[in-house]
Amino acid sequence: MKPLILIVEDEPGIADMLQYALATDGFDTLWCATAQAALDELGRRAPALVILDVGLPDLNGFDLFKRLRAASDVPVVFLTARSDEIDRVVGLELGADDYVSKPFSPRELVARVRTILRRATRGGPAGAPPAAAAAGPFAVDAGRRVIRFYGHALELSRYEYGLLKTFIDHPGHVFSRDVLLDKVWDTTSDSLDRTVDAHVKTLRAKLKAVAPKLDPIRTHRGVGYALAEDLPAALS
Ligand code: CA
Repeated sequence: MKPLILIVEDEPGIADMLQYALATDGFDTLWCATAQAALDELGRRAPALVILDVGLPDLNGFDLFKRLRAASDVPVVFLTARSDEIDRVVGLELGADDYVSKPFSPRELVARVRTILRRATRGGPAGAPPAAAAAGPFAVDAGRRVIRFYGHALELSRYEYGLLKTFIDHPGHVFSRDVLLDKVWDTTSDSLDRTVDAHVKTLRAKLKAVAPKLDPIRTHRGVGYALAEDLPAALS
């Protein structure tokens, strides 16, 4: 059975191009021109991935994304038309799997879709190790992709999880932004240093919510980031 890709995009020209590129690459596609149509379809079908335009006529893509996420973990790729939309996708930490800015090459988008679906399959329960590994105040359950910080399960996006897991696996090791992009982001064509910084910032905010006085991710100016090795074993 071919994977079904739901395309939510109000511009027919772009939707046609996407449907053609995806169908050529062996996907089934379903096109919705409004958020409401997408919500209706999502009640009936379970797509493997959703491509979601931010600028929709009825509900904006961010609001649609939140409603979608409340019900499902389906991977989402945002289509953005403006740089301020990209800033929101990256900076607001919505937990989207990727974004592509318009104008984009359909082939590149299809390649991203393939990468995300491969990753989603790989991270599924079948191939995942069940053990939870602990590194000081952190406990990683790689099978469930959950990281606990002093016992609190963190709600992390895919990239925040990848970053934190990388740090925890090598406490004290200073990772450059380039290395983090390479390790955590599968496709680097559109990724920037500020992407790493934006995700580190939101990750820090989530850690701070648990332990306001600690600074677990240290900045090494001009070099990169590292996990602190002097964190207390328990919160006082
Ligand atoms: Ca649009």
